Amino acid sequence: MAAMENPLLADSELPRFGAITPEHVEPALREVLDAHREQIAALTRVSKPSFASVVEPLEAMQHRLTRTWSPVSHLNSVVNSPALRDSYNLCLPLLSDFQTDLAQSEPLYRAYARVAEQESASLTSAQRRLLELALRDFRLAGVALPRERKQRYKEIMTELTQLGAKFEENVLDATKAWSYPVSDRAMLAGLNDSIIAQAEKRAREAGQQGWLLGLDQPTYVAVLTDAESAQLRQAFYEAWSTRASDRGPNAGRWDNGPLMEKILALRHEAARLLDFANFAELALATRMARNPADVRELLDQLGAAARPAAERELAELTKFAGVEKLAPWDVSFWAEKLQRKLFSVSQEELRPYFPLPRVLQGLFGLVGRLFKISIRERQNAPTWHQDARLFDIENAAGAPVGSFYLDLYARSDKRSGAWMDECRGRMAFGGNRVRPVAYLVCNFLPPADGHPALLTHDDVVTLFHEFGHGLHHMLTSVDYPSIAGINGVAWDAVELPSQFLENFAWQPEVLQQLASHWQSGAPLPAATQQQLIGTRCFHAGLATLRQLEFALFDFQLHAEYDPARGARVLETLNDVRSRIAVIQPPDWNRFPHSFSHIFAGGYAAGYYSYKWAEVLAADAFAAFEESGVFNGQTAQRFLDSILSRGGSRDPLEAFIEFRGRKPDIAPLLRQHGMAS
Ligand code: ZN
Repeated sequence: MAAMENPLLADSELPRFGAITPEHVEPALREVLDAHREQIAALTRVSKPSFASVVEPLEAMQHRLTRTWSPVSHLNSVVNSPALRDSYNLCLPLLSDFQTDLAQSEPLYRAYARVAEQESASLTSAQRRLLELALRDFRLAGVALPRERKQRYKEIMTELTQLGAKFEENVLDATKAWSYPVSDRAMLAGLNDSIIAQAEKRAREAGQQGWLLGLDQPTYVAVLTDAESAQLRQAFYEAWSTRASDRGPNAGRWDNGPLMEKILALRHEAARLLDFANFAELALATRMARNPADVRELLDQLGAAARPAAERELAELTKFAGVEKLAPWDVSFWAEKLQRKLFSVSQEELRPYFPLPRVLQGLFGLVGRLFKISIRERQNAPTWHQDARLFDIENAAGAPVGSFYLDLYARSDKRSGAWMDECRGRMAFGGNRVRPVAYLVCNFLPPADGHPALLTHDDVVTLFHEFGHGLHHMLTSVDYPSIAGINGVAWDAVELPSQFLENFAWQPEVLQQLASHWQSGAPLPAATQQQLIGTRCFHAGLATLRQLEFALFDFQLHAEYDPARGARVLETLNDVRSRIAVIQPPDWNRFPHSFSHIFAGGYAAGYYSYKWAEVLAADAFAAFEESGVFNGQTAQRFLDSILSRGGSRDPLEAFIEFRGRKPDIAPLLRQHGMAS
């Protein structure tokens, strides 16, 4: 196939989504990688390497690779098909081979080291930081290892990439494979109309009578929260919490158990090859947290503050339900009922007040006011699905800053959850001028029956979260792709902008801009709004302990791995739970088997990052509370110190510059009503 015909190789401003087919994937990637290998070989022969002659060309190459590959991995996530999945999987080893070769290239390592040594004084601080991170990553990739160990390290990395992809596939397949047919309408009591309508449609499409409930996230959450039928809730809990495991309705069919064993063993081996004691220590080499003790200290501090609150909350809930002990599939249901009694407001009842168009308008207005930008939809841009839309951002002077795609509705061929991903990164040096472009993806209920998509407040918070990541990516002022936007940012600091922006979705002044009844246009009644805000502290102790449970499980799994004993996934989980949890799930619960964050995503020995970043975010937001939430100067300082700086500076220094001191956990505890 000629290059000109391959849309993945086109030099267009944006990906030509309509034209990309699975057949384009492998040839495009091979062509880019081959060209890059040649270019890199030439770079390693440069006699006097400089920032401009070696580093900048490599930055441009990585940018080009991302530009080619990001539409592929994006499509694989949002319009998954067997053919695309095959092409994608076929390419993963090619990609990983290339990245590993690059990261393990001794000539390049020496060239970078030489630039750092000889040119340092004349470079900008961002350029020096780029070199510092690159040299660190070279060393972490094993560049200084003897040949055999290096080869082994490379094999491990390739295998881990494939195992991660397989893990995620198993979860997706297991989720799609299960559904629950209902013939008696009474069984659906408690569920909201949109979930029921969707189930009816699904049954019709499958040629069945009645209703067919899927295991997609919105349906799962709605069933566990609202369904009056304990039988239905139990069936969903069982199916969800045994996905891709040796237990439950599809036991053994997509079992991730053996994959977890392998993944943990390989990670440990990789860490040992680089002379770290375990994978957790290797992971921390690139983080804001300096060592395992830092991590445990934070988690312990939060655990100590949350535990009494969680015990109180559970006792109150059990009493409210009028039982001796709550079953795990009853907790959300009774919690919702209790919350409704205490606050007379439910997520489902809030939907009519959060029509998507209004929420977007409010969100765009907010970030526009804070960061002096404006956002406009670009009509007729090619996308991958009729529901996906493209928006452009302009600065106060009317100059284009970046763009983003929104793809917000749940579909069966789409990965669950919500995320922001890079489509194009910012690049501005030499003759290169590229503006950042982001993908923002959620899984909300689509519009139906003549009404727009109606969001829960949880959905609104999710949207703000992803938009925070998006701003980090799109408002970057850094010129080099490897440290622009979210690139080069320590994993445990990368959730700062996202969780920071979430805070605004809880502010009365902001809620007034977001909420308006989709039919009557009436604002959210003041009492309801007050109640909604009150829900933020509701069961904060239980929620915190749950997150700490995941974080400690993940960290301990990687920090205490012992090859002689194997992964001990369930033992570790039980150990953590016995120390920290106040709700003990049944022993057939297989939550780890679908814990993609740590087995298929980038959060290995890093789940603690959510709490770590939450502390940073709450503390940063406290600066806005102190000065007024729309304070332009505070926003400008946040933009200048943190948001626009990407990976171009040390995250702790950036935080201290903005806040005038080190992070403090008090604002987070206060936010959750757990301050002592
Ligand atoms: Zn996030």
